[in-house]
Formats: sequence, structure tokens, C-alpha cells
Amino acid sequence: MSSNAKKHLVTLIPGDGIGPECINSAKEIIEASGAAIEWEVVEAGLNVFKRGLPSGVPQETIDSIHKTRVVLKGPLETPVGFGEKSANVTLRKLFETYGNIRPVRELPGVKTPYSGRNIDLVIVRENVEDLYAGIEHMETPGVAQCLKLISHKGCEKIVRLGFEFARSEGRKTVHCATKSNIMKFTEGMLKRTFEEIAKEYPDIESHHIIIDNCAHQMVKKPEQFDVIVTTNMNGDIISDLGSALIGGLGFAPSANLGNEVAIFEAVHGSAPKYAGKNVINPLAVVNSGVMMLRHLHMFTQASLIENAILFTLEEGKVLPRDIVGDAKAASTTDFTKEIIKNFGKQASSWKVRDYKPLIMPVVDSNPISVTLKDRSYVGVDVLVESGLGANELGKSIEEISKGSNFKLKVISNRGTKVYPSSGAITDCVDLWFCRFFVDNENDYEHRLTNLLTSISAKHKWVHVEKLQKFGNDLSFTKAQGED
Ligand code: NAP
Repeated sequence: MSSNAKKHLVTLIPGDGIGPECINSAKEIIEASGAAIEWEVVEAGLNVFKRGLPSGVPQETIDSIHKTRVVLKGPLETPVGFGEKSANVTLRKLFETYGNIRPVRELPGVKTPYSGRNIDLVIVRENVEDLYAGIEHMETPGVAQCLKLISHKGCEKIVRLGFEFARSEGRKTVHCATKSNIMKFTEGMLKRTFEEIAKEYPDIESHHIIIDNCAHQMVKKPEQFDVIVTTNMNGDIISDLGSALIGGLGFAPSANLGNEVAIFEAVHGSAPKYAGKNVINPLAVVNSGVMMLRHLHMFTQASLIENAILFTLEEGKVLPRDIVGDAKAASTTDFTKEIIKNFGKQASSWKVRDYKPLIMPVVDSNPISVTLKDRSYVGVDVLVESGLGANELGKSIEEISKGSNFKLKVISNRGTKVYPSSGAITDCVDLWFCRFFVDNENDYEHRLTNLLTSISAKHKWVHVEKLQKFGNDLSFTKAQGED
């Protein structure tokens, strides 16, 4: 390649622990492949936290990513005891990389209980919503709450990405894995959106599967899956499960994709006990680099590297510790050299897929993605902190609300109706959901303020959730035991 050829600028974050060794290996291999890449090296993670920046991500790093739009990153340590949030999650969220792609593919020469089963699946995990948005509150000193926020827009983006990704890799089936049988609004939104959008992809077979059965099926018969689209928390768990099926974290690459920015990184962390020892397997980061090359449409270089990796693994002469154990292990640097030496060779039993450019789905940027003509207020849930028992509290709240047009229907505790008593045996905590309904919504706000004022004269309310009706549908679930 001529040195004048225009190079693609990529932000490179070496990371913590084993990060720099993995990144050096990936950089060396990518450069040897002839890919026209220029690196802009910046930092994030442990040293930044230690300098007192709570995000672990300095402004220079943010500026670099704004400029380059593509990142290859080593793992970042999340310190325990200082630094507020994971710098990894901060980077993913700051740049709205809403789709986390995690391929799980059997590799030659990497013996596992599943060897020979031809596992070749991809998990497409929603990456910015769900419980992982990390919106948590202590409602009382003894009761914590984490909000599971899922939007129709977020679901539409991840589902479309799942189908587009399937097309780009010539895959035939997409499963959507949710817990919609229990969480009908949040997880159910992904299922409903998936079923709507699947109609636009008639060339791809689509199925819904409950996430717990999906985990069970992944252990029992992983070769049945092609692409699995799922929510953030489900995806986090099943993608680690997936990497264990093919030999462990040393082999698991990932891409965090958004409309503006893409961040490529290993699934594994900084494995500090191996840092600087030249013994780790760099393949998870190297294969993340291969995904990056395909993202940059450098398909020839990506295939050159992938073929050389498959050949090296199949030949089995020079392999790292996690494949062959300490006695026979090659160093990280020798394994890297061996892959480069094997450029141009192909494994006899493994093929590189035919890849097409991934078309990132276009979703309207308007914050309102669903509109309704007909909606109304029908009541309110007032969360009260109290050490009273259910009956005593229920009678007191009923007394307080007498004369207002809010009528107490039920009090629940951790999702189970406890007042009026249904005979359930509930081990109550000091957070009570008092559910009121209104006959009509006239003057709703003013009456609600009066209700809260009356409650606060005798009890401590800590949270209010307005109850609405969207068209004919209630916008809230009932407590267990509530009619
Ligand atoms: P880890 O760093 O992923 O390491 C866990 C174990 O996985 C290692 O002890 C090792 O197993 C194996 N392993 C990981 N990478 C390997 C590689 N390249 N080659 C060979 N074996 C490898 O998980 P952790 O110890 O829980 O986390 C350490 C730090 O990393 C934490 O601060 C965590 O927050 C952070 N982290 C960062 C990311 C990220 O940057 N995206 C992701 C996860 C964790 P053996 O001990 O069996 O050899």
C-alpha cells in the first residue's frame, strides 16, 4: 500500500491490566494485514480514576471519539471504592452505542465439551436501556429500587439492528429472547416490537423465546441458534454463557454499535493477575479488531486475519496458555507473530463467512416515538414508608382519603396485595404501595396534591406514580392477588 493512501483514523484505548498486551497484539496484526489505519492513542480507566476524574474518561478521549467515530479499546478496570461508574459503560452510553454484538463461534483446536457441534451464533444485546441504565433509588433505608426503563424506540433500534446484522452475515433465523411472560410492559415491549418489525424481513425466520428457556436451550442445543436479540441484562448473562461454550472469555470479541460511533472491545476484563506476564490470549481483542475492519469495509484484511487465526488454531503449533495449559504455552507475543506468519493460509475445516456491509437502521430521532389520541388519569399509586402492619396502615389511609375523590383500592407490599387482606402470607417490608382510583379526572392535579398533603400529615410518602389509561388499556400492572 502506498504511504500516501488515505488512512482511517481510529481511537485506540490500551486500557488496564492485560489491556495493553492485547491491544499491542491486535495493532501489530492489523498493521501487518495492510489495513489503512492510523491510531490516535488516548486513555481511560484506572489511571484516570486515580487522578481524581470520577468518570474515568477524560475530555481528550471524548474529543478523539467525536472526531474518529471508531474505537478499539482494551478492557478498563472498574475500581472498587473510588470512581463512580464503570468507564466502559460511560463510553458506551456517552456515544449511544445501543447495540452490543457478541459472536459465539466454535473455533478449531479449542477443545470444549461442545467441540464438533458447530456453534455459530450472535447475540445482539440492547446496550443502553433496561436495568443497566443504573437508575437506582433507596426508597427507604431498607428497600432499594432500580428502574427498568425500556422504550419503544430503543426496542425498534435493537430489533432492526438484529435483522440487519443477520442479513449482513447471511444468517437465516432471528430469535427474540425476553421475559415478557412476567414483565409484560418492559420485556413485552421488545417482544411486541420484534413481532411488528419481523414482518419487514420476510427473508428471515423469526421466533420468540422466553429468556430462561433460551439459556437452557443454549446449554442443551446451542447449534440451533443463529441470531438472538435481547434486552441489556438478559444479553449480558447469556453472552457470558455463550463465551463459555466456545472456550472462555479469552475468545469472545464484541462490537458496540451506534448510529454515530462504534466501539470494539473484548468481552473480558483487565484480568489484573496476568498483567505484564506475556501469557494471555489476545484473540478476543484481535477478533474485535477484525469486526472493526469489517465495520470500516476493509473486508479483505479482515478475512486475511480471520483465516490466519483459524489456521493457527487448527495447526496447534503455537498456542496461548488458556488453550494448551502452562507447560506447552506460547507467549502472547509469539502467538501474535505466528498469526502474522500464517497470513495467506486457510484452515482446512473452518471457513470465514461471506460478509456484506451492515446497514445501520435509521430510526426517527424525535423523542416521541408513539402517540395516542386518547389517554386519561384513572388513579395514583402512593408509596408510603411505614413500620405499621398492613391492616393498621390500610385503615389509617382509608380514613385519611375519606371525602377526597381518590378511593383506596388496595395496598400491596413487594407486588403482593396485603390490604384488604386476602389471606396471603406476605413478609412485609416498610414500603407500601397504596393504590387509589378516581371516578373522573376532573381537577386531577389539584385533588392529588390535596391527597398527598393529607397523607403526609400522618405518614411519610416517598414516591408517587400516576395511573393512566392509554386508549382502553391500563398503563400499569396489578399486584399479585389484586382483582
Ligand atoms: P476478567 O478480567 O474478564 O478475568 C476473569 C478471568 O477470565 C481471568 O482470571 C482469566 O481466567 C480469564 N481471562 C480473561 N481474559 C483473558 C485472556 N485474554 N486470556 C486468558 N484468560 C482470560 O474478569 P474480572 O477479573 O472479574 O475483572 C477484572 C476487571 O476488569 C474488573 O475491574 C472489571 O470491572 C473489569 N472488566 C472490564 C470489562 C471491559 O472493559 N469491557 C469487562 C469485564 C470486566 P483464569 O483465571 O481461569 O485464567
